[in-house]
Amino acid sequence: MSLFQDQSLKVYNSISKTKETFSPVTEGNVGMYVCGPTVYSNVHLGNVRTFMSFDLVFRYLQHLGYKVRYVRNITDAGHMEDDADEGEDKIAKKARVEKIEPMEVVQRYTLDFHNILQQLNNLPPSIEPTATGHIIEQIEIIKDILDKGLAYEVNGSVYFDVLKYNESKTYGVLSGRKIEDAVHNTRVLDGQSEKKNPQDFALWKKASPQHIMRWPSPWGIGFPGWHLECTAMSTKYLGEKFDIHGGGMDLKFPHHECEIAQAEACNGHNPVNYWMHANMLTMNGQKMSKSTGNNILPGEIFTGENAILSKPFSPAVVRFFMMQAHYRSILDFSSEALEASEKGYHKLVEALKYLSNITASKTSTIDVKSWKQACYDAMNDDFNSPVLIANLFDAVKNINLLKEGKASLTQEDLDLFTNTLHAFVYDVLGLLTETTEQGSNKLEGVVNMLIGMRKQARDNKDWAMSDLIRDELKALGIQLKDGKEGTTFVVE
Ligand SMILES: [Zn+2]
Repeated sequence: MSLFQDQSLKVYNSISKTKETFSPVTEGNVGMYVCGPTVYSNVHLGNVRTFMSFDLVFRYLQHLGYKVRYVRNITDAGHMEDDADEGEDKIAKKARVEKIEPMEVVQRYTLDFHNILQQLNNLPPSIEPTATGHIIEQIEIIKDILDKGLAYEVNGSVYFDVLKYNESKTYGVLSGRKIEDAVHNTRVLDGQSEKKNPQDFALWKKASPQHIMRWPSPWGIGFPGWHLECTAMSTKYLGEKFDIHGGGMDLKFPHHECEIAQAEACNGHNPVNYWMHANMLTMNGQKMSKSTGNNILPGEIFTGENAILSKPFSPAVVRFFMMQAHYRSILDFSSEALEASEKGYHKLVEALKYLSNITASKTSTIDVKSWKQACYDAMNDDFNSPVLIANLFDAVKNINLLKEGKASLTQEDLDLFTNTLHAFVYDVLGLLTETTEQGSNKLEGVVNMLIGMRKQARDNKDWAMSDLIRDELKALGIQLKDGKEGTTFVVE
């Protein structure tokens, strides 16, 4: 029997604006699609928060025993600068400015994105498709929408006819926007638009001669609209109806609203059962913004190379900090908040280290079963990680009581307590993996072995070998320090 049969998970659905009991399309399986990054710059800390929120969802669903197919795309074409349908393609612009190929831009920032998420211990998705790898699928969807009479072609571009669609369906079910307010093109006022109505959005855009990213289509040379790629890739890998679609709050309109309209036009129904949106990250109480300098790159947090911070913070601490807020709450980032998280995180780690020293007694003074269910209840309540963490700190208190001999656990309870703590800390919250700990133990062993070899070389007056060991380790970021007590090392 799987855990999900015992636990009643509730998920807040952005469409119904209520918490609903989670029931997947196919029992025991979950299909989840999350809008990935547009890879034209270093990943934004706010986006990192969104991906970490869905990493938590992914981890908990897997912990419950679901077989999850998690699809998160890479947007490598079609995302225009002003989030309307005009302006320049974000990636093409960066390539033009830096005089490199668009695919070099894509490669550079995809690597940055993966690197940052990996450091923060995010699990990779099951499939990570790219927009440029699915041009044919996107063209097929446009043909289908044209056949249904819900799109029109003008001068080599194809637009979705929102007003026509709204005659039989409702546009705005997710964002709650009224049709007259759902205007996509800010430039319509100057009469430049070729759209029938300002609410319409591009499915295919004709490429101007200087546009670098271009593909042939039945309507001429052009490129697909941004909203279309997610419909094409989610349908291809998860089907016409799947369980969870996630993204940042800012994607509700127009992006997700357009995805719903495109899928409704093709298949006659909303493609998703549970729409989930992660809230924003602010910094020192203000919206994060590059132009005002109220901004930090995720990598700068790990090195401390930003005046906003008092010191560097490890990826594990940053992860813990983010998990301390519920994904639907606004989270404020500041040096003080990270320092507080660091203290809390160390308390938790210290308590976990002590766990293996606890010996069993004949009786239990702690109700482990109720505590365990309280942990599940927190996560079952729309992935409430802060409440889960509060329960973990109750466990820390109990570990300290056990340490002082003021509490006791039977062997059975001790095993349940240890296993539950490990499951929630490592598997569900992903705070640090046991393999990382093992990895650092191995590193310690190897460096100490080299320190021993260096000592032997020095005893034999083999200064060349001694220096070589020191310099090679330094090049790897491991610095040896000679002292009265012998040689120690620090990893930089
Ligand atoms: Zn998307």
